[in-house]
Amino acid sequence: MSKLFKRTKILATIGPATNTPELIEAAIMAGANGCRLNCSHGSDAERDEQIKWIRAAAEKKGRSVAILQDLQGPKIRLGILKDNHLDLHKGDELILESHPDFEHTGGLTVPVQYNLAEKVKPGEPISMFDGKVKAVVSEIVSATAIKVEIKNDGFIMSKKGLNLPDTDFGGDILTEKDLHDIEYGASQDFDYVSLSFVQSANDIERLKQLLLSYGSTAKVIAKIETKKAIASDENLEAIVKAADGIMVARGDMAVEAGAEVVPIVQRKLIALCRTYGKLCIVATQMLSSMVDSPEPTRAEVSDVATAVIQGADVVMLSDETANGSYPIEAIKEMKKVILYTQNHSRVAAISREKSSASNVYGAISTAAARLAEKIDADVIICQTASGATAMAMAAERPNLPIVTVTANERVANQLALIYANSAFVRPYSEEFGFELARELKNSGYLKTKDGEKDLLAVIVSGDRDKVGTDTIRIRNV
Ligand code: ATP
Ligand code: MG
Ligand code: MG
Repeated sequence: MSKLFKRTKILATIGPATNTPELIEAAIMAGANGCRLNCSHGSDAERDEQIKWIRAAAEKKGRSVAILQDLQGPKIRLGILKDNHLDLHKGDELILESHPDFEHTGGLTVPVQYNLAEKVKPGEPISMFDGKVKAVVSEIVSATAIKVEIKNDGFIMSKKGLNLPDTDFGGDILTEKDLHDIEYGASQDFDYVSLSFVQSANDIERLKQLLLSYGSTAKVIAKIETKKAIASDENLEAIVKAADGIMVARGDMAVEAGAEVVPIVQRKLIALCRTYGKLCIVATQMLSSMVDSPEPTRAEVSDVATAVIQGADVVMLSDETANGSYPIEAIKEMKKVILYTQNHSRVAAISREKSSASNVYGAISTAAARLAEKIDADVIICQTASGATAMAMAAERPNLPIVTVTANERVANQLALIYANSAFVRPYSEEFGFELARELKNSGYLKTKDGEKDLLAVIVSGDRDKVGTDTIRIRNV
């Protein structure tokens, strides 16, 4: 079997450390299958440029690359601090002021981008700067300001986030900024849109409706990071079913719900996504130390390998590629860990009790995956219009590459993040799967086993005019 195919994919956040056409190309060459553009930082104009650079680099490489627009959601951030820095001490009384005319001049009254006075109650905890500074609300001072008591020595910086795990923000989580970003994004070439701080399936339904009304064809990812989202298994399951995929957003989740819950939620979410055939991204601090160091720690390598063995579709890099000193090295390191792990360990089995195998797509793909492994096929080829066949195939987590052919470019880009999938765009014909296999064999992209002349392919397809997949063929290519 070819070792070139990494079955778990890499999503790299683009930021100052990767923000040139050359660096984006290097990231894709090093193994990034998708790029994440975070709406919390940078401008629309910056994103317009990045999208162009990503598409150009992908075309040069001749491979599909997914672009994900990450919506900030109801993340509350500090405003601009004088000198970008303020030292705090245990016992300090800090005032968070949301009046738009307020400017920080150095004292213990600081600007915040959201009117907390309307939402918080005395006694509720607030943590700042990814949990580095803890505080408790002591008083609502005015219609636009609250007072908090600082619980530890530390410092804060401009625009760092605040987490209020016990505060009920009620109803709708989309902010004015999100509404702008959704409308802007729908006119851009985004394959996925992710929403931060999702609390319930309703948040996802609302986003889907908005995207639909703007004519967007992007798929929707729910970022799981609030206490509310993980409060019950039923709620988690409802969110997974409503979305096209989820991101285990471990950074904010650890601050909101406690770091100790993160590994268990990760395992639950990966299993749920595999059960329902949804995309699963594991994010945050996977190779954190590589922000400053050319080598990851043993614990980080183990963390990436664990996600691979659990069967995540995607492992993500945030600060490592957005802000770090070794962005390309981090991608290469991640790829090495993925390849070694997949070649030496099978993906953990999950209970398929509630699996999608009960529908026709699911049943056909279960059969095709078993068949491919039984006859020791070299590749599974999926012919797909919407991508559903390829996603159902990937949900089986087969131990061999899935090559997908579709006439739809958006679908191919979306499949770039799906487990084991390499997607190609070709004009539709009944035999385009077989033809692609022949082309890829001739180009050396797909290799036969040592001593074999033919490539053994399992081809899964359907009738284009009917819905769904109904045919499995075995072909020597
Ligand atoms: P989230 O909770 O959505 O992950 P974040 O603030 O942690 O938000 P990341 O996208 O994970 O942001 O990126 C990590 C860091 O890289 C950011 O905190 C920011 O300092 C920096 N960064 C990312 N993108 C940009 C950008 N376009 N411009 C400036 N800085 C950026
Ligand atoms: Mg987050
Ligand atoms: Mg982050």
